[in-house]
Amino acid sequence: MSAVIYPTTNLTATEQLNFDRGEGVYVYDKNGKQYLEGMAGLWCTGLGYGNQELIDTISAQLSKLSFAHNFGGKTHQPVIDLADKLAGMVPVENAKVFFGHSGSDANDSHIKMLRYYFNAIGKPEKRKIITRERAYHGVTVAAGSLTSLPANLAHFDAPLEALGILRTDAPHFYRGVQGDECAAEYGTRLANNLEELILREGPDTIAAFIAEPITGASGVIVPPPGYYEKIQAVLNKYDILFWADEVITGFGRTGNLFGCDTMNIQNPAMMTFAKQLSSAYIPIGASVIRGDMYEPMVEASNEVGIFGHGFTYSGHPVGCAAALKTLEIYERDGLYDNARDVGEYLQLKMSMLARFDQVGEVRGEGLLGAIELVEDRASRAPATDLAKRVTKACQDNGLIVRNVAGNAIAVCPPLIITNEQVDELVDKLTMSLEQCL
Ligand code: PMP
Repeated sequence: MSAVIYPTTNLTATEQLNFDRGEGVYVYDKNGKQYLEGMAGLWCTGLGYGNQELIDTISAQLSKLSFAHNFGGKTHQPVIDLADKLAGMVPVENAKVFFGHSGSDANDSHIKMLRYYFNAIGKPEKRKIITRERAYHGVTVAAGSLTSLPANLAHFDAPLEALGILRTDAPHFYRGVQGDECAAEYGTRLANNLEELILREGPDTIAAFIAEPITGASGVIVPPPGYYEKIQAVLNKYDILFWADEVITGFGRTGNLFGCDTMNIQNPAMMTFAKQLSSAYIPIGASVIRGDMYEPMVEASNEVGIFGHGFTYSGHPVGCAAALKTLEIYERDGLYDNARDVGEYLQLKMSMLARFDQVGEVRGEGLLGAIELVEDRASRAPATDLAKRVTKACQDNGLIVRNVAGNAIAVCPPLIITNEQVDELVDKLTMSLEQCL
C-alpha cells in the first residue's frame, strides 16, 4: 500500500483501479482498459477529458500570470470577468461572488457570510441553519456539520454543536411515504414538519435553510412536485433565507441551467458552486449571495477595517480562467441543450430498468439519475450487497457508476455525452445487473 490516506474509502480496502488517462467521456486504466465515465469523475467533469481548448486556456493563463491574490484591493481580469459572468447567470438579485476552491469551503464561506450579515443588521441571534436528513454539503468542520450522512459524521465528533444545525426531513417520497398518502400530501406533511421545527426553535434564531435542489451523494433524491413551493412558503413566512447548494446541479446537469430552475425554486438568497464550474480541470468554488446581504456587510467591514475572510487561492487566476472558458464552451457548444435532450433520453432508457423486480425506484432529471435496489418490489427492503456487486460488475464491464446511500447506484455522465454513449451506459448497467441477479 502507498502512503496515501484515501478519502471517503474503507481504509482497509486495497487500491482497486489505477487511472492513467482520459479522452472525451472515456478513461483508461494503467493496463489500457477503457471505461465509460458514467459519473463524470465525482459529478464534475462536464466537458469530459482532454478538452484541448480548455487545456490551452489554462496553459496560457499559467504562462501569463500563474498567481495573483485578491487581498487588500489587488485584483486581476479573470476574477473580475468570472464574478460578473456568474452574477449575470444566477437567479440571485444583484449577486456578489466569493471564490474558494471546493464545494465544502464555499459552504463554509456562506456560513461565515450569514453570520457577518446578520450581525451587521443587528440580528446576531439569527444564526441556526436548517439542513435535511441525508444531505451532503461537504466535509470541512462546518460544511461537514450540514452533511447528514452517518459515515461523514461518525468518529469526527460532528456536527459541531456551536453551529446550531437543525435537521428536517429528506424529501424522498419512495422511502418516506406514510400509508396511502399521495405525493402532494407527503409534501404538505414535510412543510408542516418544517414549520413545527421553526416554531419550536424560534424563527428569530434561524438564519437559513440549505438544500441541494436534487441531492447527489444521498442517492439522487428528486423531491415530489410542489415540494419546494410549500417549503419556500414556510421559509418566507418566517423570514428564513433559502440557500441552494448547486455544487452538483449547477450548469446544465439537471436539464436546465440550474437545479433551482428544474425544481421551481424562486429567488434563492445564496447559491454554492464548484465541480462543473471549471469542469474540474482546476479546483474552484464559488459562494454567491444576494446584493441586499452584501450591502450591510460592506458597512460592517468598514467598522472592523477589513472583511476578514479570504483564502490564498480565492480567485486564483488559473481557476478563474478555466471556469470562464468552461462556461463559454458550455454555452457555445449548446451543452445545456445537450444535457436536456440527451438527458431526456437517459431518463427514458433508465426508466426501462424498472422492469426488474429488484429495481425499486428509478429517478433523476437531465443527466443525473439513480436506481434504488431492493430485495423485491413489495418489501422495498434495501439490497445493499446487490448494489455493491452491480457497481463492481459495471467496472468489470467497462462502465464507472457510483454506489451511493447503501443500495442506490448513481449515474452522472459528462455533459458532452451522446445518445449512442447513453445506449452504451445503460446497456452495460443492464447487463451488469442481470449478471448479479
Ligand atoms: N455540496 C454538494 C451538493 C456536493 O455534492 C459536494 C461534493 N460532492 C459538496 C458540496 C462538497 O464539494 P467538495 O467535495 O468540492 O468539497
